[in-house]
Amino acid sequence: MYKTHTCGELRADDTGKTVKLAGWVHRRRDHGGVTFIDLRDRFGLVQIVTNPDSSPEAHQTLQAVRNEWVIQVEGVVQRRPEGAENPNLPTGEIEVEAHVVRVLNEARTPPFSINKDEDVEEYVRLKYRYLDLRRERMRYNLELRHKVVSFIRNYLNAHGFIEVETPILFKTTPEGARDYLVPSRLHPGEFYALPQSPQQLKQLLMVAGVERYYQIARCFRDEDQRGDRQPEFTQLDMEMSFVEREDVMNLVEDMFTKMVAEVVPHKRLLQSPWPRLTYQEAMDRYGKDNPDIRFGMELVDITDLAAGSGFKVFQGAVESGGHVRGINARGLGDYSRKQIDELTAFVQQYGAKGLAYLAITPDGEQRSSFAKFLNPETLQALLDRMQAQPGDLLLFVADKPAVVYETLGRLRVLLGERLNLVDNDVLAFCWVIDFPFVNWNEDEKRWDPSHHLFTSPMEEDIPLLDVDPSKARGTQYDLVLNNYEVGGGSIRIHDRNLQEKVFALIGLDPEVARERFGHMLEAFEYGTPPHGGIAPGIDRICMILADEPNIREVIAFPKNQAARDVMGGAPSPVEPEQLKELHIQVVKEPERKVKAGSDF
Ligand code: ASP
Repeated sequence: MYKTHTCGELRADDTGKTVKLAGWVHRRRDHGGVTFIDLRDRFGLVQIVTNPDSSPEAHQTLQAVRNEWVIQVEGVVQRRPEGAENPNLPTGEIEVEAHVVRVLNEARTPPFSINKDEDVEEYVRLKYRYLDLRRERMRYNLELRHKVVSFIRNYLNAHGFIEVETPILFKTTPEGARDYLVPSRLHPGEFYALPQSPQQLKQLLMVAGVERYYQIARCFRDEDQRGDRQPEFTQLDMEMSFVEREDVMNLVEDMFTKMVAEVVPHKRLLQSPWPRLTYQEAMDRYGKDNPDIRFGMELVDITDLAAGSGFKVFQGAVESGGHVRGINARGLGDYSRKQIDELTAFVQQYGAKGLAYLAITPDGEQRSSFAKFLNPETLQALLDRMQAQPGDLLLFVADKPAVVYETLGRLRVLLGERLNLVDNDVLAFCWVIDFPFVNWNEDEKRWDPSHHLFTSPMEEDIPLLDVDPSKARGTQYDLVLNNYEVGGGSIRIHDRNLQEKVFALIGLDPEVARERFGHMLEAFEYGTPPHGGIAPGIDRICMILADEPNIREVIAFPKNQAARDVMGGAPSPVEPEQLKELHIQVVKEPERKVKAGSDF
């Protein structure tokens, strides 16, 4: 037996016990000829000492060990001398006096310290991920993720769900991204697609009578990388039969409410039950459909005041069908011209032509880019509408609605952070519902589904599909946490005719539809229960619960932002033989400047 105890569990009560421990040398200290070692395993740290007189050999070995060597010790638990206790360490009242020290494996000096939370370049962390994962921050994150997933499994098992695995080699399941394709050796010229989600399969499980399904499912989407994206990521994929959207939302709300109480008890929910916002309300109040509702600074519509204001920029926007909306950044009334210019540049990145401002210094003096064009009554009405006070900075965008929402939504988040309005210990869950069923795609001149093509419209809105699809609402619900969309789902179409009608609406050629989704259409003819589901993103949820800035921090072996695994070296070229077997020929792109492995 290598160990009788873990490094984290010995207490004063264990004094006098003979124990065996094994782990890594976390830190060593030499004090006047005595060597102290902190021995580490996943469960904690414990101090090891030796007595040169009674155990000279153990003493010598302990003096030779270096950080990150793997050792085993046998010894006796003793109370630390008075004044030498460490109240910050659970084992801080005791130490183990070793009479045997065995070196199980030596270690090279690691490329970064394991025992300190120092900033290390991400490339180095990912290249030596197995060392990075030894660090306390990552140990915590891995355990947190495990607790989240265990809680979910236990909860769903107790609520009649069964976990079913679905294939990784399947055919395309579109969720709006590019597919990862896998060439077939047995069928030249044919490909599997890695699932962007198990969407079709979980619906087919409902046809199969499973009724309550879940899976901690890996999904694959070949899209451009951002902080909260990875080529492969994990969803809690769920589906239920005989449910309406309320049933799905209520179950998920109960599960996550209980999960956070157990897994992150130091955090608190902003509100329970979680607020529900319609899509339109989310856009009007926060400028985005994944709103951070932890703070106010909501968007205020002044389109009506702007219409006859006499200020050309405002009037012009309204006349061409646009909106004028503003936010009140309370406390920034003394922003300098330069600071306001910087905010203007920020909104211009996202398509706004400019940013109109009215700043009121703490002693009431006004500066504005447009107030002089307004008559006194309109100006007063605008100040009243914005609830303006000394010290406020009012910022307005006049443009097409989409641009107004996008720019003010982002500006609100930026200023909320600057003004420290966001409390990271607060978890603000909310539901966003009543999305438009389809969105007009101006480039392609067609309707795109706003969720995915298996989502049902609201039953009472089905007739609108023939008259004015833009007015029809989908059954989709998005799960939002703080500043992120962390999941989405819907009630599905379970009727072949309606599914075909939706394919036609979004311009999917009937032949193509049959080729891609014929199995779904066929299944719908064999007694399909009404069903719906959702797929919360495990990575994003864990990222937020762990207060991490990106999902790579909660994934054991993530890809970097160029979608590479820098530790194993993937993707990588393969042997010509392998390509031949797969009937694949690589067409080299001569102008490609980026060398393999160098694009970090
Ligand atoms: N398959 C969907 C997604 O990945 C979720 C769902 O509709 O259940 O977003």
